[in-house]
Amino acid sequence: MATPYNMAFACLTCCKSFKREFDLAEECPMTLKCPECGGSAYNFGRHFKPPKKSNKKQWDKIRFLFEHGFRFQKIRVGSGHHDTVPYPETLEEAKEFVVTYKDYAIHSG
Ligand SMILES: [Zn+2]
Repeated sequence: MATPYNMAFACLTCCKSFKREFDLAEECPMTLKCPECGGSAYNFGRHFKPPKKSNKKQWDKIRFLFEHGFRFQKIRVGSGHHDTVPYPETLEEAKEFVVTYKDYAIHSG
């Protein structure tokens, strides 16, 4: 039996996150339809902690990171290291972060 797991999806238009359950045999889509606006809700992985809907600054940061290819994937630096790089707390930090870790960005499409 495959164990189901939850993936977090977020709509950057609604500033809303929701979870969907998948089992391991199932391929997880990168986007789902947002239940609020019918637009795209993006896969932010298993460890995404969404800010409050009202926290516009945090959503701005998430949108910025996303546009630069960072979807809260784990970033490990160096070889043989198990330390992951923490994601930035603020939009200002995010601006440096996307430059420093540009080699780790996801390029889609
Ligand atoms: Zn939406």
